Formats: sequence, structure tokens, C-alpha cells
Amino acid sequence: MLSKNSLVQAARYMRPVLQQRATSTLHSKASTAVMPDLQSELPECDYQPPQYTGPSYEKVLQIRQKHITPNIVPHFTKPLLIHNGHMQWLFDNEGRRYLDMFGGIVTVSVGHCHPKVNRALQQQINTLWHTTNIYMHPKIHEYAERLTAKLPGDLKSVCFVNSGSEANDLAMLIARIHTGNQDIITFRNAYHGMSPYTMGLTALSTWRFSLPGINNGIQHVMNPDPYLGLWGGAACRDSPIQTDRRCDCTPETGCVAGLRYYDQLEEVFKYSLPRGHVAAMFAESIQGVGGTVQYPKGYIKKAAELVRANGGLFIADEVQTGFGRTGEHFWGFEGHDFVPDIVTMAKGIGNGFPLAAVVTTPKIAAALGQALHFNTFGGNPMASAVGISVLDVIEEENLQNNSLEVGTYFLKGLAELRERFEIIGDVRGKGLMIGVEFVSDHITRTPLSAPHVVEIWETCKDMGVLFGRGGLNGNVLRIKPPMCITKTDAKFAVDTLANAITEFFNKNQ
Ligand code: PMP
Repeated sequence: MLSKNSLVQAARYMRPVLQQRATSTLHSKASTAVMPDLQSELPECDYQPPQYTGPSYEKVLQIRQKHITPNIVPHFTKPLLIHNGHMQWLFDNEGRRYLDMFGGIVTVSVGHCHPKVNRALQQQINTLWHTTNIYMHPKIHEYAERLTAKLPGDLKSVCFVNSGSEANDLAMLIARIHTGNQDIITFRNAYHGMSPYTMGLTALSTWRFSLPGINNGIQHVMNPDPYLGLWGGAACRDSPIQTDRRCDCTPETGCVAGLRYYDQLEEVFKYSLPRGHVAAMFAESIQGVGGTVQYPKGYIKKAAELVRANGGLFIADEVQTGFGRTGEHFWGFEGHDFVPDIVTMAKGIGNGFPLAAVVTTPKIAAALGQALHFNTFGGNPMASAVGISVLDVIEEENLQNNSLEVGTYFLKGLAELRERFEIIGDVRGKGLMIGVEFVSDHITRTPLSAPHVVEIWETCKDMGVLFGRGGLNGNVLRIKPPMCITKTDAKFAVDTLANAITEFFNKNQ
């Protein structure tokens, strides 16, 4: 429930919004009336989707209930039936067009059905689908050379797999056999996968099953979260937008919050880990599923030094943050100013094709030679052809720079909404990896209840914009669109969110 205080405050913040809304040409109607005009209000798109010819909506729902396992929960009260995609656009069975701000969960990196990637895949489909790696085929080799060229230092040895969980499974194995140690550290609020091995790394109760032994050798340490955590100030984050928490830092002290969180990490090393004998620490460069959480500047670099001093490796999970998404850099870890020992990647690497990879140094990779280790599809010719083409498109279309420019513009637009609406507690991120956290109380940062967040989120969908949702309490909008979006799209998304929040207050006051 919204506290009375916050509703009063919200009403205060609402007034200028309502005035502005009355003169705005965008979404001047209530959300229920917006639907028929959806197409005319969206930014232009010259692509025409083919007519939907599949099973009826009702039939699809029926099959779903009867034959699909219940862990697969579709978004929205009335789930969308999407049958076609083009760049940043998705089309439903009734021909409605949606601006996709979630990219199939941070996966469609260069655009739905990007013509160049399509051509590369079609060409490969007509040439060779699969041999597995008992024979050599050219594509995996061309791709290994191209991909490792994007990584710094000695990170030149790659093993291809098919999903992020597989990549992290393999990284765990490599770290353990290379170091001879067992213990692995991850952050509370981290998400690293759903295989039984990686579910232990994932530290969100919503994503954990009661399985014996999954935490074997895994320590979850305090999340250095400058917005929700014990410490954090207005200069902690590597982002154009900071929290509105007070900051005690001076040029002499450096980031005080970062140091306090680091002390907590040291405590775990002191009390809970075998001295000098850890296997690894994993970290997403910016937490994704956990709600786009960034760490205080400098923390990760120091953490990596501590892990290495204790015999372990640092593993950067770039499943969401890689491939230019954070704008300034190609890899998220570069924003932390260090080079990890192992990098795992998935999602955006294949623009939606099942493809993932683990990259490490030849020295560390040598541990894998101790026994046979095999993955039937890893580096398959089709996947490799897609991977090469995705790298080409990111370069040719300057998508990393687009992430920086459009992402920064987007973040600033969202930060203006935080000034207007008390229920937006935080706006954060880098490039096109953005989070908007809803709160019921701006001061205590209490999460806005899930039904309220869902109401706003569903209204955005009705108005033509698909956002993701995340965070332990489901109160963070996740904005991670295909990197081809424009400033016009970003502005439309910000305006839509403002209108959806206004609609929410109209209904709930
Ligand atoms: N690591 C991170 C950071 C992720 O976000 C995810 C998926 N959400 C994974 C690993 C697991 O990837 P997959 O679903 O492909 O197994």
C-alpha cells in the first residue's frame, strides 16, 4: 500500500504533470481509450508485418495450460502473442506494434530479425548446419579469432556453449580445477543461472528451489548496493544519474560506501573462507535480474585483488552487460577498470540465437585438458555465423556509441521523471542498461507493492511500450532494448511512463 504521506506527496508532484498532460498531443486520452490509437502515436516504422496465420489466441492459451510446464510464466495479465519482430519493434497476433524496451531479456542486441544477421544465418543454413567439433569447420575458428580480438590482455582462449547457465557452469568448473580450490563467492541479489550448479551462485530467493547441496562451497556476500544497501551516497555510481542519498565522501577519503562494503567482504574472507584457498568470485558488471544494480566505484577492482591474493580467480559475468550495451565500453568490466581472469557471455552475443561463451587465458584454460569435456552444439556453424555477423553489425552501425548517446539521453529523461513523481525512488544504469525503481516511500526506499508496479507496467504495454521488470521485490523497471533504438524511441518511452504513472494516480487517489 502507498502510505498516506507518499500519496499526498505524489499528488503535490502530480499537479504540473496533469497540466502538462492537458496540453500534450501524446496520450491525451486515458489508457483504456489509448489502445485504438496505439499505432498512430508510436514513433514511425516503415515495416509492415505479415498477417498472423497461426493458431488462435485462445488455442495458444489452451496448449500452454495443457502442455507447458508452469515455471514459464508469461508477462502481463493478458499475455501477448507475439509473432513477428523487426529491429526495435514487436508485432502481436492482431497486428499491434510495440516498442520493445526489453529485447527478449537483454538478448536482442542489434535488432529483431536484423537483415544482415538474417542473411548470414540463411547463408550458413544453406551451407552446413552441424558437424559438432569432431571435425573442424571454418566458422568456429573465424569466430574464435574475431571474438577474442575484442578482449583485453591474455583473454584469448574461448569455449563456446549455448546458454548463460552453461557458460557459468563451465567457468565454475574451470576455476575449481585450475585453482584446486572449492569456494566461490557471489553477491546477494546476483543472478548467474538456473542449472543446479549455477542456482547456487544465484542469490535471490525468488529464483531458488529447495535442492540439497546447491550451496556447496558457495558464499553469498553483502551486495554493495549504493541505493538500497546500508551505505551509499550521491557520488558512488559510474552513471550519469546518482542516488539522491547524502554523500560523505571527500577527495581524501575516496568512496566511503565502497570501503565499507569492502570491509564486509574482508570479514567473509576472515571468518568463512579457507585462508589463501578460494576458487573464484563471480560478479555481473551491473546486476541485471536483481534490478540494474551498480556497485560503488572502485569496489570490484579491490575485490578482484583480494580474491587473487587468496588464490582465486575473478569471473566477470557479461551475459547482460557485454557487447557494447553499457555504452562507454564494449565490456561492462572495463567500467570497473580491471581485467578479469574469466569472462562469461550469452544473450546479446547471438541476438537471440542460442550461443554463449567462456573466455579465459590459455594458461587457465589448460586445466580443461585434464579430462574430456564436450558440448554437442557449442560453436555450431550456424551459431558462429550469427556471432560473427552480430560483431559486424555492432561495429558497422556504431551501436556501442548509440548505446552511450541514446542511453544517456534516456537516463536523463527518466531522472526528470524522478523529480516529478515521488514513486520513482531511483534511476540508474549506464548506456542501454537502465533501471527505474518504484518506491512507496521516497525516504525509507520501501518498495512499491508488486500489484501497483504491475499496474503501471501493464499500462505502458497498453500504450505500446514493453518494459521488463526485476529486483527481488519486482519493483524495478528494466530497460535494456535492442541497441538500435533512437532518441525518439527513448523520448516516447519516457513520455509513456509518465502517462502511465499519471493514469495510476488518477485511478488510485
Ligand atoms: N548470467 C546472467 C547475468 C543472466 O542474466 C542470466 C540470464 N538471465 C544468466 C547468467 C543465465 O543465462 P541463461 O538463461 O541463458 O542460462
